Amino acid sequence: MASVPPETPAQSATPDGTPTPSPDPEAVTKFNFLKQVRSARNNPFVKARPSLTRESSTAELFSRENSSTDFFQNSRLNLFETAPKPEATNQSYAKGVSFIGWHQRTKLERVLLILIAALLLAVLLTTSLLLAMRGPSYLPVPPCYQPEPKEASSVCLSSSCIYTASEVIRALDETQDPCNDFYEFACGGWIRNNPIPEGKSTWGIFSNIELQNQLTIRYALEKVNTTDNTDAEAKARIYYDACIDTNETIEKLGEKPLVNIIKKLGGWHILPSTMIKQPKFDLQKLLQDVQNSYNLGGLFNWAVTEDDRNSSKHVIVLDQGGLNLPTRDNYLNKTAHKKVLDAYLDYMTRVCVLLGANKTEARSQMSKVIQFETELANITTPSEERRDEEGLYNPYTIRQWQKEAPFLNWTMFFNDAFKLVNRTIPDTERIVVYAPEYFRNLTKVIRRYSKTEDDQKTLTSYMMWQVSRSLSTYLSKSFRDATKILRKALFGSEGTEESWRYCVTDTNNAIGFAVGAMFVREVFHGEAKTQGEIMIDNIRNAFKRNLKNLDWMDSETREAAETKADAITDMIGFPDYILHKDELNKQYEELQVKPNEYFDNNIAFNVFSLKNDLKKLDQPVNKTKWGMTPSTVNAYYTPTKNQIVFPAGILQLPFYDGDNPKCVNYGAMGVVMGHELTHAFDDQGREYDRFGNLNKWWNNATIARFKKRAECIQKQYSDYSVDGQHLNGKQTLGENIADNGGLKASFHAYLDYSSSKDTAVNLTLPGLKYNHRQLFFISFAQVWCSAMTKESTKMQIEKDDHTVAKYRVIGPISNLKEFSDEFHCPIGSKMNPKHKCEVW
Ligand SMILES: [Zn+2]
Repeated sequence: MASVPPETPAQSATPDGTPTPSPDPEAVTKFNFLKQVRSARNNPFVKARPSLTRESSTAELFSRENSSTDFFQNSRLNLFETAPKPEATNQSYAKGVSFIGWHQRTKLERVLLILIAALLLAVLLTTSLLLAMRGPSYLPVPPCYQPEPKEASSVCLSSSCIYTASEVIRALDETQDPCNDFYEFACGGWIRNNPIPEGKSTWGIFSNIELQNQLTIRYALEKVNTTDNTDAEAKARIYYDACIDTNETIEKLGEKPLVNIIKKLGGWHILPSTMIKQPKFDLQKLLQDVQNSYNLGGLFNWAVTEDDRNSSKHVIVLDQGGLNLPTRDNYLNKTAHKKVLDAYLDYMTRVCVLLGANKTEARSQMSKVIQFETELANITTPSEERRDEEGLYNPYTIRQWQKEAPFLNWTMFFNDAFKLVNRTIPDTERIVVYAPEYFRNLTKVIRRYSKTEDDQKTLTSYMMWQVSRSLSTYLSKSFRDATKILRKALFGSEGTEESWRYCVTDTNNAIGFAVGAMFVREVFHGEAKTQGEIMIDNIRNAFKRNLKNLDWMDSETREAAETKADAITDMIGFPDYILHKDELNKQYEELQVKPNEYFDNNIAFNVFSLKNDLKKLDQPVNKTKWGMTPSTVNAYYTPTKNQIVFPAGILQLPFYDGDNPKCVNYGAMGVVMGHELTHAFDDQGREYDRFGNLNKWWNNATIARFKKRAECIQKQYSDYSVDGQHLNGKQTLGENIADNGGLKASFHAYLDYSSSKDTAVNLTLPGLKYNHRQLFFISFAQVWCSAMTKESTKMQIEKDDHTVAKYRVIGPISNLKEFSDEFHCPIGSKMNPKHKCEVW
């Protein structure tokens, strides 16, 4: 998805820098299906120590907001199957006609269709009535409808199909010409009926699943009734209860927990009560204490992660980082971002005042911190120029590295960190640096700032602000409310939600696999795993078969590509170990959580994450470790593992339902699967071989032809614009290649399925005049029905590797001839341009 996403506050991170909720930072989730999938821990803006990311280090500032207004009904109740006859396959799209091919139907068919329409209407009326009576938390119950079991029909009449059909109908806007704007056609009805709820900045069809998942988790968490503190699920419950704070401990403590930490760090001059003794300025010590004792960020990012050139091993990786606003542009383009910069200063000042600072002094000091962050922004490379993974890989020994970036004693720095796991780091230790130029320039900036006492104070304030910004979200409500100032400027909404939703998300981010065990017990059905495997195999086969049609590939590279596609491993649903209590408890053995100690629980979590991360240095890479928790509504591809992963959270409506027609499942979930699979061959993924190692396995001439094809996609998307702002085709290239390849592979896989002799029938949905192939495309597009504030749209265009929703639909379908064939779009119409782009 708009390539967005993150990892633990400790070290590992997704390429877009979103922190993964997993307490185990092992998996570096590189390419996510969705934008800002997981919310950063606690703070909507920030996670503890910025995770290592190849894009701008601030991607973790974004989180998908969760709504509190409405619930989506996930109808998984048991349904009957009709015994339908094969559908006529050559029906054409005809605007304004309710049932295609009416006159070609037999009398019996017409009677049946009328009956179906009447039943559907009755269901819709009943549903609406119940919704009106019971309010937004109503979970519809499927109707007691029994079809004539012996009658053949190509229409699926299960309750799940009827429910899905009504959702599809309500989202469509059939006054729009699908050949002119397929997104408006598929989503116009939904957009009209779904204004962005108060407090949200984005709202989409699958916001509902996230809301429903939160409700499920809350219900499960509140059922846990043991206080056995060796039990992982009990730890999650204790953590959640401390966050909910029914006895108002957090409120009573106010600013104290954070002020105590600032004291331990040597004090901050704008908070006189923290200055126990006049400390000598020592950046090395301050940085070590902040990063290595509390696992918080500052100046740069580092992590223990898979070695790109030897993906079975781990290595220490250093990268640029240290900005607190989402993009470098926020600092550098002062005119366009004045509102954000003003809000940032107000927010910083507010937090400092809440901690006890004088307002005037705080404001003046924080202006200097913004100036310093602007210096960092200036030496930060934009993400669109960091897409060549080979170019990012710069190995050094620590001894060599010391000469490149002498502002720190690196041996001392790493030994300080690794003392947590009793490991020494010799200066011969090999490290990989993704941004050497950044560190050379950082050395110059730090030298300049170390000269006067005034500038040293700015550096101290920058570090103390890193600590305050991260940890203030674990304090009382007034601190959390302060973030609204910045949120509003960045996203156009304050991001308000009920506290239990905040705490559910927070608990899932901290102890996500224990929460995941509860989640899958409540909602996950095993057959989704089996069906998912079958779909992945079909899509992989369709992708491989298509390689033969690509005349830009030489035969040797094509063969290697087939081998790589075959070698892609997949994980669906959840890791099995979470249902084995002992193994799950062992994972969280070293995490201590206590009742009524929300702030300290978070400090404990930070240290726990750091420790897990550091331990990996001497361990082989565990290829079965998950980088997303089971309830996450997202998916990812990890190039170093050559692996695609689909958590249980996404295997739900509108993406998947075992009782829905296959065309609906392939259009939604199948395209997600194809998307992740294609990431293995996008502009970044293609640089890794089938073992997950950065290694050139392509012939040069083929690489040149690939680049030419990719340029076509880059230009196509750069020509699109929203609110007068052009999309960034370079930054979103990998995601767009994946979107295009994913749609094609899934459509072809579906065609294979529907034409196979084992397929009794290609079911379609009742009440709709579209054939099953047309429904495939409608189902694909409707996943993206969504609305965003102007601010959020601007932010997504500037920051995200995922294209905005509308063009995630329009881009791929206008490149796919098969779409235009199905909807009879004339050549030259907007959805069927003469000139098309194709990579995979
Ligand atoms: Zn993606």
